[in-house]
Amino acid sequence: MKEMGIRELAKYPFLREAHEFVKESGVSLDEVLSAPPENNLPLQDAWNRVFGAFAGNIAFIPGVRDALWSMLIKRYHGEDIDAGEIELAARSSVSAYLSAEEVYVPSSEEALEARILSYPLARILVSCIGDRRFMRRYALKEAELFRKLLQSDFEIMGDFSFLHDVGKELGLNIEISSDRAAMDVAGYVKNTAQMKDRRKHLLFQDVRGGMVYFTRRPGEEEMAYMSVIFRSFQQALQNRLDMELPLDIPDDMCSELFIPVNLLGFVINERYDNYSIGKLGDVETDKFPPCMKWLLGMAKEGVNLPHSGRFALTAFLNKVGMEIDDIVAVFSASPDFNESITRYQVKHIAGEISGTEYTPQKCSVMVSEGLCHNPDELCKKKWMNHPLTYYRVKKEGERRKRKRKG
Ligand code: SF4
Repeated sequence: MKEMGIRELAKYPFLREAHEFVKESGVSLDEVLSAPPENNLPLQDAWNRVFGAFAGNIAFIPGVRDALWSMLIKRYHGEDIDAGEIELAARSSVSAYLSAEEVYVPSSEEALEARILSYPLARILVSCIGDRRFMRRYALKEAELFRKLLQSDFEIMGDFSFLHDVGKELGLNIEISSDRAAMDVAGYVKNTAQMKDRRKHLLFQDVRGGMVYFTRRPGEEEMAYMSVIFRSFQQALQNRLDMELPLDIPDDMCSELFIPVNLLGFVINERYDNYSIGKLGDVETDKFPPCMKWLLGMAKEGVNLPHSGRFALTAFLNKVGMEIDDIVAVFSASPDFNESITRYQVKHIAGEISGTEYTPQKCSVMVSEGLCHNPDELCKKKWMNHPLTYYRVKKEGERRKRKRKG
């Protein structure tokens, strides 16, 4: 791997070289943690990372001028702030992050060093906050930031060897040239499993000698053949972060970060609580088939479901009578949750937009899509062909039992 400059390390702080840089810089974490927030560049950038992930876009706002950061400064100076003020500040700060399009990369050495340090500090903050649903969202947003930077650097410099080196560190086996890219089959399957586009399935790819090839087609944009490669870079970093978090942080270090951890933890909890599933009506989740219990459990845990899984669960919940608001709430822990998009999709499946109410896939399709999970004795009956049949049979059986007893 060719040696990287401090600017590259500031953009890609997860690389081994950035880790070495932090070790050799001699800056101790204690020094960083004890500096007042107004002059603490690493903490400011770490805040931008963590709150940006919460907001939906990691943006580096010079001097952190968001309203919630102002609450943090007040807290550091011993001022009391009530929950209502924090909620208002968080709400108004979100739009500042969402509207920041460019990734601001500083030029001074001090600020670049702070940007590198902000990465381990952000991971410490996220680990101290301790919410696994949020950890997954943070991993996704950090990985999206990485893809944005990598793609823009590549478009400007066209440095194939850099991509190759970074890919290698993320465990990607890739070959890239000016009109063709390739990735090993195992890496392709692992890093494209979450993609919603069915055309990305291995069946539709050009596979030769254990590699999947992407070539520039006539009329296609110059970099179009690279899009799957960039998405795979993103997924590889996301997978790595998902695996690494939470870090094992000593309690006294989390205590040092009490104010940012407490503020961020408060707004994160508020969001998840706001979407907690309300009335289930007559919906009896204990009668759900194993596949739907599994999908529902993963959705609540913040695991990003594949497109077919989201569709199956949404259509099923709608058919068994769950309210639109409650179905939206089911997906609120998802790392890429966006309320208006989710609501639109749920309404679409429920037939409120197109007039067509969709039905979940039947068992044979669930099996072929890898969604039939842990089938039980009822699932194994010859006549069992649909998750909705399973639910109805279970409900009916219960009703008859009650009648007999009565
Ligand atoms: S057999 Fe059908 S109902 Fe049972 S777990 Fe599989 S897909 Fe679900």
